[in-house]
Amino acid sequence: MASTQSFWPVSHRDDDFWVCMSCLGEVFYQKVPMPDCPSCHGVSTYEGFTLEAIRDWGTEDLIAKAVAAQQASAAAQPVVESAASVEAAD
Ligand SMILES: [Zn+2]
Repeated sequence: MASTQSFWPVSHRDDDFWVCMSCLGEVFYQKVPMPDCPSCHGVSTYEGFTLEAIRDWGTEDLIAKAVAAQQASAAAQPVVESAASVEAAD
């Protein structure tokens, strides 16, 4: 398993969860896999949704993937607020 998945960075407004409409088994947060879907290899099959929409019609597995993808993205961001909160004490 030496293959590395590449992504297009995509940032919309609220519909930042990109779901493959072909296999409905892949979801990514603020990015879409390139050149095709890693599961079904469909091209241009991804559409943006809100997490609420995915919770509405997605499978439990898809919802879990969406939440995990968002958390992974958040964890990868540098935390810029932690420094400002220090001097608020006392
Ligand atoms: Zn797919």
